[in-house]
Amino acid sequence: MSSNNGSANGKLVIISGPSGSGKTTICKELTKDPKVRASISVTTRPPRSQEVDGKDYYFVSEREFERKIKKGFFIEHARYSGTLYGTPRKPLENALEEGLIYLLEIDVQGALQIMGKYPDAISVFILPPGKDVLKKRLAGRNTDKEHDINNRLNIAENELQSSSHYKYRVTNDNLEEAVNEIRNILGFKK
Ligand code: 5GP
Repeated sequence: MSSNNGSANGKLVIISGPSGSGKTTICKELTKDPKVRASISVTTRPPRSQEVDGKDYYFVSEREFERKIKKGFFIEHARYSGTLYGTPRKPLENALEEGLIYLLEIDVQGALQIMGKYPDAISVFILPPGKDVLKKRLAGRNTDKEHDINNRLNIAENELQSSSHYKYRVTNDNLEEAVNEIRNILGFKK
């Protein structure tokens, strides 16, 4: 039989959390393990200054994104804060066949779509220590405009309410502890 978590071998892991919860940093730490591979999403958002096309995201136009939707390129996609984001289907299926741990760092809308398709996916919601810390982190990032920061804070409040859909909730007070907690969830040896 296929799929308890999508394939006979691999593990599908969904990581979500509000913007500024530190989930990108957590995912970077987790991918240091050779068993772990991270999905690279496609987005219509413009790149931030440090971001590299094909590494952090594939940056495309709305038109190109719509074309990919029609071709069935995505396993899920969603609009978040005005821009489109989607997870390419093929690399996910290949990674699961290869027996890898495949990380999807996606928003709640996308996560719910994946949970529907892969009910045994391991889902982890990263909680920020508090709203003040979240606001500081977003402002400190210095890349998002004021109205975008407020928008992301509003989305964060809604997203926090959705955290009950996830199998695990991890508070990111301390990066190392949060990463270790997730490693334990994934069954890594100490
Ligand atoms: P950011 O613009 O800060 O990189 O990402 C904004 C939100 O979009 C985050 O919650 C991030 O996890 C989510 N996101 C990134 N890639 C995808 C994707 O492929 N699908 C979905 N549904 N959300 C994504």
